[in-house]
Amino acid sequence: MRRRRTRTWVNWSGTVRCEPAYCARPVTVEEIQSEVVRVAEEGERLRVIGGGHSFAPLCWTDDNHLSLERFTGIESADLERRRVWVRAGTRLQRLCEALADRGLALENAPDFDQQTLGGALATGTHGSGAAFGNLGSLVTGLRLVCADGSLHSLSAEQDPDLFRAAVVSLGAMGVVTHVELQCVDDYRLELRTQAATLGETLTRIDSFRRDHRNSEFFWFPYTDSVVLRTADVTREQPTRLSPLQRAARRTTDRIVFRGMAEAARRTPHMAEQFGRLATRMVSGRRDVLSARTAYALQRRLRFQQLEFALPVTRLDPVLRSLDRIIKALAFRIHFPIEVRFVAGDDNWLSPHYGRDSACISVPAYPDISYEAYFAPIAELMERNDGRPHWAMLHDLKAEQLRALYPRFDDFRAQRRRCDPRGLFLNPHLAAIFGEDLR
Ligand SMILES: Cc1cc2nc3c(=O)[nH]c(=O)nc-3n(C[C@H](O)[C@H](O)[C@H](O)COP(=O)(O)OP(=O)(O)OC[C@H]3O[C@@H](n4cnc5c(N)ncnc54)[C@H](O)[C@@H]3O)c2cc1C
Repeated sequence: MRRRRTRTWVNWSGTVRCEPAYCARPVTVEEIQSEVVRVAEEGERLRVIGGGHSFAPLCWTDDNHLSLERFTGIESADLERRRVWVRAGTRLQRLCEALADRGLALENAPDFDQQTLGGALATGTHGSGAAFGNLGSLVTGLRLVCADGSLHSLSAEQDPDLFRAAVVSLGAMGVVTHVELQCVDDYRLELRTQAATLGETLTRIDSFRRDHRNSEFFWFPYTDSVVLRTADVTREQPTRLSPLQRAARRTTDRIVFRGMAEAARRTPHMAEQFGRLATRMVSGRRDVLSARTAYALQRRLRFQQLEFALPVTRLDPVLRSLDRIIKALAFRIHFPIEVRFVAGDDNWLSPHYGRDSACISVPAYPDISYEAYFAPIAELMERNDGRPHWAMLHDLKAEQLRALYPRFDDFRAQRRRCDPRGLFLNPHLAAIFGEDLR
C-alpha cells in the first residue's frame, strides 16, 4: 500500500487546509482494514478523503488521511435487478460512464460529477426532482470498515440500524468500501430553460415541482427574474451541436456566470440589470442529452457555498425574507441562488430525512466576505427548520442538530458502536456530534 508523508492538503474551494502526517492509498479491503488498525494502535485519528469538494472542514486532520483514489470501479453488476456493487472511491463521472456501458443509469444525479461515490453519499449529495431522494436513497447495500478494522455488510435487512446510520455518515462511522446501488435502464432527457418571475414561480410551485421529472430554478437577486430548468424523459436522439454552437454556448455560460458576476462586482449599482440580462441569455434553450451527460454543469470558477434543506411549505416566506436580507447588505452580491427539490428518505442523518425538501443554495463570489453574507442567511434558515447540507458551510452544533434530526441520538449510538474512541473524528465533527476530543 502507498502511504506517504503528505504536503498541505487543500479542499476545492480553498477554505480548508491541513498538513496530515500520512496519506494512505490502499488498493484492497485488507489494506484499508490494516491502515485503520495501525492508526488505532498508534492512538491517532484518521479522516477518509474523497475528491475534497466539501466546503466544510469534514476532511481536516493533522494526523492521517486515507484516500480511495486507487480503489475504484464497478465490482459486479446484476443486470436483471439493475443493481451494481461499486468501490467507494469511484468518481461519479466514471460511475455514470461505466453504468451507460452496461445500459444502466442513476435515476437522478447532482449537478457536478467529480465527487467520489463515498464522499457524495457521506454528505447527502442530491440532484433535483420532487420524486427523487438524494443519492443515499439509491443505496441497497454497504460495506463498512469500523475503527477496530472489522468489515460489516449492511442493508435494510442486515443490521438495519447501522445501515440507516452509515449511508449518510459524514465519514464519521468508518470507511465505506463498497456501495450497492439500485439503478434504472439508461434514458435520455429533454432539458429546457425558460425565463419566469419569482412571484409566478412561487405561486405555482406545486405544479412546477410535479409537472416535470426534474425541476429547479435560479433566482437572480435584486430582480424578480428566475430561470427555470426542467428535464423530462424522451425517446428523441441527443442534440448534436456543431463545434461552433458548442463554443457559443460555453461563451454565453462564461459571460452569464463569470463575466456578469465580475462586472457586477466592479459596478455594483448595475447588479440588477446584469441579473435580468443573464436570465434572458440562458433562457429558451432546449437540448436532448443522455442521462450520463444531462446533469453535470461545468464549474470553472471557485466559490463558497451555503445550503439548507427546508420543508417545501417554507420556501415562499424564506425566499421573500432572503430578498430583504440581500437588499439590506452593505455590499452587493453577484451570484444567482439555486432552488432544488428532493424527496424525503429514511437515512437518519440525511438532510431530507422524513420530509420532502426545497433546498436553497447560496453561493458567494470569491472576493466577497462570505461570512458576513452567510451569517444572516444561516439564521433565517435555522429559524425555518432548515437542515444544513453537510458539505456546505454552517456552524450548527449537536444541541441544534438534535432538534432538527429525530434520530440524531440513535445515530450517535451507532457511531460510538463503530468508533468508541473517536478515531474518525476531527474538531468539526466532534462539535456536530457533541463528543469530546481527548
Ligand atoms: C462545484 C461543486 C458542485 C457541487 N454540486 C453539488 C450538487 O449538485 N448537489 C449536492 O448535494 N452537493 C453538491 N456539491 C457538494 C459535494 O457533492 C460534496 O461536497 C461531496 O461530499 C463531495 O464529494 P468528495 O468525493 O469530494 O468528498 P470529500 O469532500 O472529500 O469528503 C466528504 C465527506 O465524505 C467522507 N468520505 C469520503 N469517502 C468516504 C468513504 N469511502 N467512506 C466514508 N466516508 C467517506 C469524508 O470523510 C468527508 O466527511 C458540490 C460541490 C462542489 C464543489
